[in-house]
Amino acid sequence: FRLLNYEHTNEMLKKFRNSFGLKSFRPQQFEAVNAALLGLNVFILMPTGGGKSLCYQLPAVISKGVTFVVSPLKSLIIDQVQKLNALGLNACHMLSDVDSSDFDQIYQELVKQESKFKLVYITPEKLNNSNKLRNVILNLYNRGMISRLVIDEAHCVSQWGHDFRTDYKKMGELRSTLMPNVPCMLLTATATPRVRNDILMQMKLRISEESSYTSGNENRLESKLSNRVYLPLIPSSNQLPPNNQKCVFFMQSFNRENLQYKVEYKTSNSAALEKISELIKSRFQNKSGIVYCISRNECEQVSEYLKKNGIRALPYHAGMDDKTRHDTQYKWTNSNECKVVCATIAFGMGIDKPDVCFVIHLSLPKSLEGFYQESGRAGRDGRKALCLLFYNNQDRQKWLRIISTEYNNRNPSAYETHVENIRRIAQYCDNRIDCRRAQILEYFGEIFDRGKCIESKMNTICDNCELFEEKKSRILDVTDKALIIIKGVQKVCHNEDFTIAHLADILKGFQNSKIIEKCHNSLDMHSKLSDLKKNDIERLIRRLIFMGYLKEELKILKHSDTVASYIRLGPNASKILNNSTIKIQFELIDDS
Ligand code: ADP
Repeated sequence: FRLLNYEHTNEMLKKFRNSFGLKSFRPQQFEAVNAALLGLNVFILMPTGGGKSLCYQLPAVISKGVTFVVSPLKSLIIDQVQKLNALGLNACHMLSDVDSSDFDQIYQELVKQESKFKLVYITPEKLNNSNKLRNVILNLYNRGMISRLVIDEAHCVSQWGHDFRTDYKKMGELRSTLMPNVPCMLLTATATPRVRNDILMQMKLRISEESSYTSGNENRLESKLSNRVYLPLIPSSNQLPPNNQKCVFFMQSFNRENLQYKVEYKTSNSAALEKISELIKSRFQNKSGIVYCISRNECEQVSEYLKKNGIRALPYHAGMDDKTRHDTQYKWTNSNECKVVCATIAFGMGIDKPDVCFVIHLSLPKSLEGFYQESGRAGRDGRKALCLLFYNNQDRQKWLRIISTEYNNRNPSAYETHVENIRRIAQYCDNRIDCRRAQILEYFGEIFDRGKCIESKMNTICDNCELFEEKKSRILDVTDKALIIIKGVQKVCHNEDFTIAHLADILKGFQNSKIIEKCHNSLDMHSKLSDLKKNDIERLIRRLIFMGYLKEELKILKHSDTVASYIRLGPNASKILNNSTIKIQFELIDDS
């Protein structure tokens, strides 16, 4: 890997210290800045708070020409431009609601021989919709005056990402038509291997293997996988010259040592609220935090409840007007007037508050990736912080209903992805034995040894590791039990619809009216798992669904506005039915 020459490096370090006022680089910042200044395409994957912005801002201010930064959120853009201007650096933004005379001034400045602006922030919508902007970009491009195209929050490019935007999807095309020879920098805090590959494919880039860097994650699963898994397929049409496709990759471990992950079973919303209020009053008096809620209504109710209990809470959701939302965020960030924000996921990107001591999810998040991102807003200052998630199966069903109504007929592939995401996060909650941290990191392609959680220096051991010694004797080989369920389903699922709960009732050996009426007490599987608790049976069924031995067919029940999961044989069923060497381990721990 080449380095910049001495003079260039000196200039960069001077700006780093004098303009940005910083003393030492965070992990990989120096390398990324160096790669950008060498004119390479760069993909930066760093956890939130890792200091991604500097990786393009520093190169921007010392490169000739203008850096265009595409960012999804107006508030994020305004914030960044304000920060840069406060440092005396020339940056501007072009948001749709700036009036046209303001735009004209910016355009006039940009088309000057050498414009004063070093960074121009735009939304993807603006880039797609404004011919004038595109003309100015062409003008700059033809004069060699665009130093870099930056795609912030690059996961928005991928429909597998948790925040997909259609306008972002066009960025690859725009780059290859508008500015094909301009180096590109992609930045994101959350990208699973699948999302990562998709981003590269959409942007028509590929990883340059000989020069990709990872740190703090020697154990990445990917290093053990073949390159083919890692590299995207690039469509043969519309290809860029090979050098423009190559991309250097910087990736940091996603482990946040100072965050403590816990999941609690939610018997009811009111019981959870009582616990939250007690917790805040006892452990987090006068400390800042976020309570994530599933709906606007829930935000209002939770904030009311906390207020009644003497906690300075405010709601935040997309149903509130811009000003109120802005005020809430301001009060929470800068004053003592508000300590706890009760929010939907609308409260998210761009929050830069270091001392968030807790993030509580009152309801199930939409995906493990979303959860990582939301809970990751805690503890940016490096201090110990709590990430607590309340879970019950009703929430899982509630999400499945929302997704079924929203996507089922309109967009089958998005529907599948969302359903899979819910199953994944529900599995994370249902799993009462594996290290939480290890589960999260595995999702991002990292192997994490639970020993490090148990011995965590900051005492941030997760709930599963805390009780591991006590519980590990309850991890059993349940292959026989699983086969009873799978064979039972095989016999009946062709002619009848069984929900998870009804199937569990039969296996438990209940004689309720539905079972008697349908003569399900005469099925072979009836009472075959009577030694297990019903909750454990349900969890085991959900695990078998997750493993693909069973699958659930979702049907919306119009009359009750709920979704029923009917159990069928899954795609992997034949494997276990025909192969006696497959063993299934499961923890029989019903502590709900
Ligand atoms: P990200 O985009 O990865 O979430 P930011 O770029 O917003 O992170 O940086 C998070 C915070 O860290 C900002 O307040 C920024 O000023 C600060 N920061 C970035 N790099 C450094 C550094 N090398 N030294 C000290 N502070 C830094």
